[in-house]
Amino acid sequence: MGESGYTERWLETGSGPGAVVRARVTQADQAIQAAYRKWLDHATECPSCQDGAARECTVVQPLWDAYRAAQREAL
Ligand SMILES: [Zn+2]
Repeated sequence: MGESGYTERWLETGSGPGAVVRARVTQADQAIQAAYRKWLDHATECPSCQDGAARECTVVQPLWDAYRAAQREAL
C-alpha cells in the first residue's frame, strides 16, 4: 500500500553537477504530481489564468481543489 515504484529525482549535491537518483514514489506522491500537472497544463495554456484572472476561471478552480485534496490525502 502506498509504494508503487520508483522515479528519478534530481539531487542537488551542493557542488559539482548534482546527480539523478532513484527514489521511491508513493501513490499519494503520484496523485499529487498528476493533479499538479493537470493544473499546470491548464494554467500555462489558459488566457484567463495567464492574465492573472485565475479567480474568474471556472476550469482552474476544480483542478486546484483536486491538487490540494491530493496533498491533504498524503498527510
Ligand atoms: Zn484558466
